[in-house]
Amino acid sequence: MYLSETHVQVRDMARQFANEVVRPLAEELDREERFPAEVYDQMGALGLFGIGVPEEMGGPGFDTVTYALVMEELSRGYASVADQCGLVELLSTLLVTYGSDAQRAEWLPGLLSGKLKGAYCLTEAEAGTDVSGIRTSAVRDGEGWVLNGGKIWIHNAPVADVGFVLARTDPEAGHRGMSIFIVDFHRDGVSRGPKEHKMGQRASQVGALNFDDVRLPAETLLGVEGRGFHMMMSALDKGRVGIAALAVGIAQAGLEAAVDYAQQRKQFKKPISEFQGVQWLLADIAKDVEAARLLVHNAAWKIDSGADATRYCSMAKCFAGDMAVARTADAVQVFGGSGYIRGFEVERLYRDAKICQIYEGTNQIQRMIIARELLSKGAAA
Ligand SMILES: Cc1cc2nc3c(=O)[nH]c(=O)nc-3n(C[C@H](O)[C@H](O)[C@H](O)COP(=O)(O)OP(=O)(O)OC[C@H]3O[C@@H](n4cnc5c(N)ncnc54)[C@H](O)[C@@H]3O)c2cc1C
Repeated sequence: MYLSETHVQVRDMARQFANEVVRPLAEELDREERFPAEVYDQMGALGLFGIGVPEEMGGPGFDTVTYALVMEELSRGYASVADQCGLVELLSTLLVTYGSDAQRAEWLPGLLSGKLKGAYCLTEAEAGTDVSGIRTSAVRDGEGWVLNGGKIWIHNAPVADVGFVLARTDPEAGHRGMSIFIVDFHRDGVSRGPKEHKMGQRASQVGALNFDDVRLPAETLLGVEGRGFHMMMSALDKGRVGIAALAVGIAQAGLEAAVDYAQQRKQFKKPISEFQGVQWLLADIAKDVEAARLLVHNAAWKIDSGADATRYCSMAKCFAGDMAVARTADAVQVFGGSGYIRGFEVERLYRDAKICQIYEGTNQIQRMIIARELLSKGAAA
């Protein structure tokens, strides 16, 4: 076993929390599209937010493997809940890596306790995959800045207190002309669009943000002016490991549900688990979940060991996202017609899986990254 005692302890704690608190609520949260603030308070108290934040900054200081283990377990309970954990990890990684002491003191305690909700704000109507197309701008105004523009499909937008917003600060400088601002959403000029109604992960609140002459003090700039694109992208390797682990968690839940159902459901006077056609479906789900899990752990371990992890993070995200969609479809198949009916877990899991191929860089983009890495650095493992 390559996991340490600490890895197993934290995983088991997250597993217990997912079994006792998260999974029993998932169907209701999906049906009502409800934001489970009470669950996030409990996660904050258990230390499940900001897993990689060093102890001296108020976090538990765990490695990326631990983060992946927690994400899988939470997602096995319900992917929206894991997604909240992933979002806090992304924002806290940016704060730890690039933030000033004052910025960390202002935002980390609230994000880690779950009291403050954050948002990671890149996407715009004309800038999805191609982030270089963003139009949101921040223009100097004395010591500070004035922010104008808008973002769409931002996770937590309807409920967030603070957003890390990528804006253009030099219109002539392409990728090098973007900066990140930590925007308190209670400032004048910030408004929110309506909540989007999504196919899956329906407890995750997603929506638009508008910035209309929002005045920002100089100290809201994160890190170095003009390095925003680079900073946002630098957090994505770890972000992709998180989404890959989340995808594994969805598929693992599908596997568990399918194995149980196959042993209970009888046709032709015997459990359907006795038919080879069903056994092969179960075996295919299990082997692909395990393969994806190992890719996730390998990518996480590469990050922790300081290796060049980019291709491995993209492989894990791409494989696990595609696997989760294909194998939750197989879990639906094991359930037959019941799998297509609302209220059966596998029906939700299939819907929850689809976004794993789209966000945190679509799987087409992951393939582009893998190919670019192979062609520029060689195919050697
Ligand atoms: C539920 C949800 C939550 C989200 N949360 C956030 C968030 O919190 N913060 C945030 O900033 N954004 C968020 N997003 C946005 C998400 O990151 C984008 O949807 C994603 O990056 C794809 O951009 P797009 O939708 O504009 O698709 P497009 O970029 O328009 O792509 C459309 C299709 O073209 C393909 N394509 C594009 N370019 C290429 C290329 N060069 N080669 C091959 N294929 C290509 C894509 O893979 C895709 O299949 C969220 C989206 C959703 C749906």
